[in-house]
Order: sequence, then C-alpha cells, then structure tokens
Amino acid sequence: MLTLTFLGVGSAYAKRNFQSNALIEAWSARPDRQAAPDDTLLVDFGTTGPVALHHLKRVPGFSHLDRDGTVYYPAIGRIFITHQHSDHIGGLEELAGTNMHYCADAASGRGFKPQIIGAGEVLANLWDHSLKGGLGTLTGRHATMADYFEALALHPAGQGEPDRFTMLDRYEFTMFPTHHIQVQREYDWPSHGLLIADRTTRDTILYSGDTRFDPAGLGRMMGAAKLSFHEVQLEDQTEPVHATLSQLRTLPESVRKKTILYHYGDTWDGGAYDFVADEFAGFARPQYRYTLFD
Ligand SMILES: [Zn+2]
Ligand SMILES: [Zn+2]
Repeated sequence: MLTLTFLGVGSAYAKRNFQSNALIEAWSARPDRQAAPDDTLLVDFGTTGPVALHHLKRVPGFSHLDRDGTVYYPAIGRIFITHQHSDHIGGLEELAGTNMHYCADAASGRGFKPQIIGAGEVLANLWDHSLKGGLGTLTGRHATMADYFEALALHPAGQGEPDRFTMLDRYEFTMFPTHHIQVQREYDWPSHGLLIADRTTRDTILYSGDTRFDPAGLGRMMGAAKLSFHEVQLEDQTEPVHATLSQLRTLPESVRKKTILYHYGDTWDGGAYDFVADEFAGFARPQYRYTLFD
C-alpha cells in the first residue's frame, strides 16, 4: 500500500494551515498491521515543516515519527524537492542539522543521512543559494551537501538516466517540469511535479507541485490518472504563478471530479468556495492519510 498525508495544505503565506508538504509512506502490508512504514518520502519540507511534523507525530498512527516527544528525523528516509521556494525547502536546515548532530549512530559516530531527490539543477541551487548559508560550515571545516544527504539527481521522464525512483520496487515516481516561475520562456526556471505509478496495476496518480494552470502540459496525465492532487490559488490575479481556481474550473468535469486541491489560502472556508466540494474532489485535508494504491 502507498499512502499520502499532507503535513499542511496551505499556500506559501497561509497561517491557518501549514505549508503544502506531504509525507508518502510505502507499506508492505498496511498501516493498521505495521508499527512503521517500510519506506518514507517527504515531498518538500518548507519553513513550517518542522512544526507541522511535530503536530503530525501526535496524530494516532504516526508515532513512528516520535522519539521521546520530539520529531525523530531518521524516520524520514527520503525527501523529494519540487523547487526552491522556502515553503518547499525552508525546513531542510533543521532536518539536516538534527540528523547530523542529534541522531548520530553510537558505533560510527556518524549522523543519519537521508536521500535527497530532485532535478540536478534544483539540488545544486538548493545547496549553493539556500542551505550552504546555514549548513556550509562545521567546527573546523567546510561542509558540502554530501555531509548531510545522499543526493539523487533526476532527469524529467524520458530525458536521460536516471529519470525515476521507486518505493518497494512497486511504486514508481517520475517527475515532469511545471510552468511555475518564468524568467523568459516557459519552464526555464526549474520546478517539477510527480507522476506516481503502481507497477502492478498501471494506475497513476499526479501530484502537481507548484504550477500555473497548464492544461497543455498536465491535462493528458490528469485525464489518465485515477486521482490528481493539484495546487490552487483561490483569488484571481493578473499573471498568476499558480493555477487559479477559476482557471481550474474550466477543466472537464470528469477530470475535476478526481482532482483534490491543495496549496490554498486562508479564506477557503468563508463560504465563497463551498462549490469546490461539488465541482472537484474537494479541498485536501491536512493530517489525513490518503490511500493512493491499495
Ligand atoms: Zn509553494
Ligand atoms: Zn513555488
């Protein structure tokens, strides 16, 4: 079984929900028959991620994230980074520092090193422009990304090897570029979403990552997927860098009905957006373990 739980479902600047980061768990049996999943993957870990994880570990069924009342970061084996905005990477300094300094193996003295996965350009920029400031110096020496993470640089599907990774050999993850921030041309600033496939049934699920409304890029995948998690911006705006709700309402009904909206602002429950429950598969619920594949 593969499950997905949002640490939060909020937009970058939301305050009532934590930012949109997700925990994917792979189970050889199922959650009610295992104390902990066999493999774990965070999709993004933003500024609010550490506090969101602190809350999630107290939810029944997530005690594998807890060690003596604090977040046990070695429970997170892998992290996929969609792009470099702080609502998607701002928690990584805490994760890396805690793994190195507070979770060292008693025998070797070495800290825990999770795998970090993303486009090569995203991982290089992540270290050079974001993480290096806080993590680049250790007592007596300079540090690199390799001191904290096992890096796996991915190519988008079909554009070179490696272009995928798996969980339990059964669930296959490929990434696709998203049209989020544009410098001069579409897709020229690296950001990615994930297409997740069950190799047994060939069913797929799409996780959009941050993207503008992009039916030309994502429409075919969303049509074929059994479920999509798509980001949304509730308010209209000229030149939005997110998919606005009014744009998403133009998708075919058959696609909308299997699309769950996340990355939404704090006004979702004021009454103006009640139609989302009817027109889409609803707003994403935080701290709820969705079954992706049985
Ligand atoms: Zn975002
Ligand atoms: Zn973004």
